[in-house]
Amino acid sequence: LHYAVHARPVVTDDFACVTVAFEDRTEVEDAGLMRRDFVANVSHELRTPLTAVLGFIETLQGPAANDAGARMRFLEIMGKEARRMNRIVGDLLSLSRVEANRRVRPTDDVDVSAILRSVVLSLSPFAQKQNVALVLEGAEGSDRVMGDQDQLTQVFTNLVENAIKYGGAGRQVSICVAAHTQEPTMRGPALRVDVADQGEGIAQEHIPRLTQRFYRVDSHRSREMGGTGLGLAIVKHIINRHRGRLRIESYAGKGSCFSVILPYE
Ligand code: ADP
Repeated sequence: LHYAVHARPVVTDDFACVTVAFEDRTEVEDAGLMRRDFVANVSHELRTPLTAVLGFIETLQGPAANDAGARMRFLEIMGKEARRMNRIVGDLLSLSRVEANRRVRPTDDVDVSAILRSVVLSLSPFAQKQNVALVLEGAEGSDRVMGDQDQLTQVFTNLVENAIKYGGAGRQVSICVAAHTQEPTMRGPALRVDVADQGEGIAQEHIPRLTQRFYRVDSHRSREMGGTGLGLAIVKHIINRHRGRLRIESYAGKGSCFSVILPYE
């Protein structure tokens, strides 16, 4: 706990005392620390690809100036690193947009099943490339909640993309909609969407930290798959804005299930 102490003398003609006020600064200081950590993380994440690009530019201007083969190879790597920076900046912008509106609950009438059908359609080529079968269940009709269409599309895109990336080639990713469920942590009936994969799973100690910005279980693998480490942080913020819950269950060697629980109103 961090306290700021404010003392003020009060003196009148026949009375003198000192008032002392204690101000709890814990939250303010924690927020300051988090901001500093965040800036350090962003700088580190951007500096790595930037350093690579600068290094290749120098090589192309110097020793490899006349080597056509090296030029093509280096340009390819520079393109990859630049796209990576672009993804990080895009995700940071999404995160800051959601955070800026976090107190305003979205009020559009949104059909979650229709969103899931379009997410599955647009991720089908990626799933095919990774040799993963996408199965959508219970989304034939229309399941409406109060929400933000673009943000919920981003939530399900991130979760299904992760399930494809980390779920293992040759396996199945299932997306299942359950309407009017009673969830332990929700007051009224809710809509639940389970995104389940059959991958390696996630060890229990990592689960509470998965939604922290830039937290990855295996950084190398995440980078290889084009990850930024911000996907689940964005998911968590959007779900909070919808007054919903994100539940993560995972068993090592058996796979993971990310459940999005949304109130109807
Ligand atoms: P990334 O861009 O690295 O995928 P995310 O924020 O989306 O970032 O996810 C954070 C980390 O959580 C990932 O790096 C990965 O280690 C882990 N993770 C996310 N989804 C899954 C999943 N379905 N199976 C196993 N690990 C996962």
